[in-house]
Amino acid sequence: MSTIAQNIQHIMSDIERVQEKCGRTRDAVLLLAVSKTKPVEAIAEAIQAGQLAFGENYVQEGVEKVQHFARHAPDKPLEWHFIGPIQSNKTRQVAEHFAWVHTIDREKIAQRLNDQRPAGMLPLQVLIQVNTSGENSKSGAKEQEIFQLAALISSLPNLTLRGLMSIPENVPDYDAQLAAFKKLAILKTKLQETYPEVDTLSMGMSGDMEAAIAAGSTIVRIGTAIFGARDYSNT
Ligand SMILES: *Cc1c(COP(=O)(O)O)cnc(C)c1O
Repeated sequence: MSTIAQNIQHIMSDIERVQEKCGRTRDAVLLLAVSKTKPVEAIAEAIQAGQLAFGENYVQEGVEKVQHFARHAPDKPLEWHFIGPIQSNKTRQVAEHFAWVHTIDREKIAQRLNDQRPAGMLPLQVLIQVNTSGENSKSGAKEQEIFQLAALISSLPNLTLRGLMSIPENVPDYDAQLAAFKKLAILKTKLQETYPEVDTLSMGMSGDMEAAIAAGSTIVRIGTAIFGARDYSNT
């Protein structure tokens, strides 16, 4: 078995173990394989191991991979998630090639994605990225902006509001991780009162997956623990 297949197997069993420990239902958490900077060969190995959901951060690179697998693995029901920062001049490419977007943080981007979603495709499944740490340098909507953004998204026919996403500060301490994730879980519960279709919390990466699942994550975004460390020297 390939290393990537083994890694996926380990993470899946970790997810199951933590779900059970926390009283979550089986299959409560989706494993999103974050394949940014990784070649199509590595993604093909993951697909071979049964992985179908992939996350990409860079528009051009992501679109090339979506198109590659549409040609080379047309029978696989792959699900592509865009999880990187979105500039407004790149929204069309995202709207035309992805099933999910995790990183909507302003109205202009939501409006453009809606307007550019091709007729005949399912609505784009979207998450609002929240800046839970309050650092003004990081991307993400501020807590007080979430509800206005949610109101716009839910009025747009080509977008479906599914929930919230965050990338909290990278800290090694489990309790601190848990506290940051619980903040997002509380915001999601509030959002659900107005938007019952909201069912998704995208939180947790290779270094903080357990705390995220304990706090209610429904999508963990895992790169390094599946594909190994990333090499940015060529990008
Ligand atoms: C790169 C990235 C990940 C994966 O991070 P790892 O630590 O490699 O698991 C998850 N989410 C986002 C938004 C990312 O940019």
